[in-house]
Amino acid sequence: MEDIPARYTLEGVSDAEVSVHPFATEDGLGLNLTRFRRGDCDDVVLLLHGLTASIDMFIMPEHRNLVNTLLDNGFTDVWALDFRMSSRFPYDAETHRYTLDDIAAWDHPAALRELRRHVGDRRVHVVAHCLGSMSFSMSLFGGALDGVASFVSNSVSLTPRVPTWSRCKLVAGPGLSEYVIGLPYMDSRFGEAPPLTRGWMVSRLVSLFHRECGVRDCHMISFMWGSGHPALYQHENLPPVTHERIADLLGPTGVHYFRHIRKMVSAGQAVKYDPSDPRHADLPDAYLSRAGEVTTPVLLLSGDANHVFPGANAACHEALERARPGLQEFASLPGYGHIDPFIGKNAHVDVFPKILDFLKRQAS
Ligand SMILES: [Zn+2]
Repeated sequence: MEDIPARYTLEGVSDAEVSVHPFATEDGLGLNLTRFRRGDCDDVVLLLHGLTASIDMFIMPEHRNLVNTLLDNGFTDVWALDFRMSSRFPYDAETHRYTLDDIAAWDHPAALRELRRHVGDRRVHVVAHCLGSMSFSMSLFGGALDGVASFVSNSVSLTPRVPTWSRCKLVAGPGLSEYVIGLPYMDSRFGEAPPLTRGWMVSRLVSLFHRECGVRDCHMISFMWGSGHPALYQHENLPPVTHERIADLLGPTGVHYFRHIRKMVSAGQAVKYDPSDPRHADLPDAYLSRAGEVTTPVLLLSGDANHVFPGANAACHEALERARPGLQEFASLPGYGHIDPFIGKNAHVDVFPKILDFLKRQAS
């Protein structure tokens, strides 16, 4: 086994000036933008992780990562955001009542303001994964921000679709976790908890149903997300080191977010968690309702073995085509699941060229 890279290492990005840019949201959370700059460039790219991941999913040293690929292909000013769902922050493992509306209203608009302070009016392209993509789609199509030159979404955008087993977990999970197990979050590292503690028991129970590999953290992550063995990726797509250190890349998840996702799955589209919440009066109750007003070109991606949001981005492509014909494309990724399009060992061959091709067309 190769050495496991240090947690939060920035060493996966070569030949770039790295700087960190902290900023605060309107509701008082500290967040970070990290910049990887090789030179000036008219087209800036901003990367957004999914729930419980972090910028690490774009800068892993053990494969040819997305940041290096962008830097090598003319996009020489790349930024990555750690927002409140990042495993680099403690927010996911704290008791909280955050929803995706909070992120749409406060995280992405504040990040764009901080980014603009440094890059001015240069074109900004956004590439986003999972709930980073969903919350950013809500910001973009809900009118919380503008001036985005293009947007690439992986797995899910404004029309979440989940397997039946996930639906059951979305209904029962938050209540079971908070009221029966007594924890406001599920942790991919429960396997390392002391024997007979709550976390240890959850992990051992989950592993009874996951015989596909010997990594307990991998089992927990499949339990936390989606429906499959494993649920988030195809094992054969991952470098062995990535599989071994998967809990470094996917940390604890606050279960309250599942209540909002459950509501959106029931509605068939992204909707507000609480339409009567005055803090989000500026956002639409249904985020597709204003889609016709937004002219940002969108590329929707999904692995054809996606077991977290299967069919979601194909459905979003149809919905957006009805609202604003010709402004979106959909690309299926054969042999890929939910997150391996970014962390897979051959992502630079199978996936990143599709992203580059789209970005270059939007840049010219
Ligand atoms: Zn595994």
